[in-house]
Amino acid sequence: MKSIILGSLTIENVIETIGLHKPDFLFPELKRNQFEEQFKWLIPDFVDVKSNNLIMVFQSYVIKTKNSNILVDTCVGNDKCRNNRPFWHKQRTPYLNKLKELGLNPHDIDYVMCTHLHADHVGWNTKLENNQWVPTFPNAKYIFSKKEYEFWKNKINLNKETNHGSFQDSVLPIIERGNYELVSSDFAIEDYLSFESAPGHTPGNLIINLFSDNNRAVLCGDTIHHAIQLSYPKISSRFCEDPIQSSITREKLLNKLCDTGTIILPAHFPKVGTIESNKKGFYLDY
Ligand SMILES: [Zn+2]
Repeated sequence: MKSIILGSLTIENVIETIGLHKPDFLFPELKRNQFEEQFKWLIPDFVDVKSNNLIMVFQSYVIKTKNSNILVDTCVGNDKCRNNRPFWHKQRTPYLNKLKELGLNPHDIDYVMCTHLHADHVGWNTKLENNQWVPTFPNAKYIFSKKEYEFWKNKINLNKETNHGSFQDSVLPIIERGNYELVSSDFAIEDYLSFESAPGHTPGNLIINLFSDNNRAVLCGDTIHHAIQLSYPKISSRFCEDPIQSSITREKLLNKLCDTGTIILPAHFPKVGTIESNKKGFYLDY
């Protein structure tokens, strides 16, 4: 992604991995003919021309402001035991080198924010050092949704395997070190960043709104998982905790953003742009 200049803010991304995913696995309700009907605009950027699988990027967004560097969603991470996801298991990627290419070392990050606490959004919160999980970004304040934190905390009390163990290795070590804040959906930083509740994918799921000099962008995490959901906003992913609420939230967001010029930056999109509509529904202009 090219750097996006949004007034006084700069938005960049750090790609951890790019993967191909089977559409019927990610979206069990999506019918083959519905999927193929959208190939015209989805190939080649969002659907792989050879395999016809969904292209999914695992990436973080970096927001540089005058005073701080903010990292949003921290991918899968290195060295994490993810026995049920072979391609994530003990993964090693040059993520931190890529961050360095943006001119940032781990100690330059002032805030880490997670739109939600799934395993592919919290991984780089921590790194393995002397057999212990320690914060990767030693000077950062980690911002989590209180509702989201409590949801997963209660879930792992019932089943330790929940969420691939990511709560234990990528969230709890941050809580133990103390440089964190559990916030509600009205959290904001000055007049350029504000959270907004976007329940459904997970109960405490958040989107992050950015504003600067009349320009707007939205970091919407997994509220929209893949561009096919612009054509079929009602279809939720396999990983949505509440698929019905997720579809309500997604439709509301798309209607709100459509034709406003707001740049949307979903967590797994290989391209970002603005939401437009035609007779057939929503699409991404990029
Ligand atoms: Zn995700």
